[in-house]
Amino acid sequence: MSSSPSSPSTPAPPAAQASAQMFERASRAIPGGVNSPVRAFNAVGGTPRFMVSARGPWLTDADGVRYVDLVSSWGPMILGHAHPAVVEAVRAAAGHGLSFGAPTPAEIELAEEIIARVAPVEQVRLVNSGTEATMSAIRLARGITGRRVIVKFAGCYHGHVDALLAQAGSGVATLGLPTSPGVTGAQAADTVVLPYNDLDAVRAVFAERGAEIACVITEAAAGNMGAIAPRPGFNAGLREITREHGALLVMDEVMTGFRVSPAGWYGLEGVPGDLYTFGKVMSGGLPAAAFGGPAAHLAHLAPAGPVYQAGTLSGNPVAVAAGLATLRHADEAVYAALDVNARRLGGLIGEALTAAGVAHRVQYAGNLLSVFFTADEVHDYAGAQAAETFRFPAFFHALLERGVYPPPSAFEAWFVSAALDDDAFAVIESALPDAAKAAAAAKPTA
Ligand code: PLP
Repeated sequence: MSSSPSSPSTPAPPAAQASAQMFERASRAIPGGVNSPVRAFNAVGGTPRFMVSARGPWLTDADGVRYVDLVSSWGPMILGHAHPAVVEAVRAAAGHGLSFGAPTPAEIELAEEIIARVAPVEQVRLVNSGTEATMSAIRLARGITGRRVIVKFAGCYHGHVDALLAQAGSGVATLGLPTSPGVTGAQAADTVVLPYNDLDAVRAVFAERGAEIACVITEAAAGNMGAIAPRPGFNAGLREITREHGALLVMDEVMTGFRVSPAGWYGLEGVPGDLYTFGKVMSGGLPAAAFGGPAAHLAHLAPAGPVYQAGTLSGNPVAVAAGLATLRHADEAVYAALDVNARRLGGLIGEALTAAGVAHRVQYAGNLLSVFFTADEVHDYAGAQAAETFRFPAFFHALLERGVYPPPSAFEAWFVSAALDDDAFAVIESALPDAAKAAAAAKPTA
């Protein structure tokens, strides 16, 4: 890997002129200038960087500035960017045609690869995004049980499904929205929102409304309010309570799936869900996602059963090729590197903030991590919101100016790749002391 874009002795990158011009132009053509809200830097201020290329652990923006990427396209790029095997698989698939609207051999292989990794999953249906996966899983859960109500947890984000936007994390948290205009009372009325990691709250709602509840949906480990692992026994408790009341447990592994272990969070904890949702890593960076579970549940789905679900581009051969190549190259060494890199990054962040006297917690959920500016361990959304988030913009921009690209929100997880090498870590290490000092100097906004 070639040398870093900045080091302690090199000046900060130039002002993001090309990005600023593009943002102005984009803002005229695209709402807010971006195609997904958190990209807009609203939570941290400043101009989003427009990226033109990426390789290994590096992103290059329109001004030619390189950054160590700690977002990894919000999760998918565990192998790093433009991995030769993935690029070659995509090229080869594209050469055979871009979309057929008919079944293909490769989608069987991707389905089988997922099934082989996650024991409770016997069948999967491929879709195009995590949002579609959770939307479809909820519909299926309601179709199977004949019940209306769904339970979710505050700060968990499951995509922009109407019924799941109530007190959601990720961009909804970043923008401070309790829910979204456009979601009707009727759509939200069947959604019960409870505090994450609070089994008593779950027991209480099941005691009152158990017979109405179709499913509980949870992030297998929370990553959309920052990284917050389930407390020991939380997921097992959800398993027990849902089973007792004839409700389904939907494990959303869109973020954790195939990243935190070969079998995702299930591989770390072993608590089986009834339905699973996947995306991100299994797509290799192209639009693909999936939902699945035991064959008896999936038998309710059209055309085998009555619950309707479909998609013109579902199982797209190019996206399937990217996902399959990524999973096939994600071997033991890759998972070991992801874990080592997450701990190395978290260690460096912790050291720098300690040296600067900033109260903080670096929290992990497997190899997802994030930093909370608080001395207290964070178990739920209220805890995440109570942290000194006003320190994050200064911390973020000091890193960005020094060639490091963290997620532009205090409520997002940081995603490492296996491609982070010593050169990349040298840039991170040299950027962190100044970033920690900037966080220390930050003042609450009035
Ligand atoms: N579920 C979880 C846990 C997610 O983190 C996300 C996206 O970040 C989604 C669902 C939605 O996925 P997508 O953005 O592909 O629609």
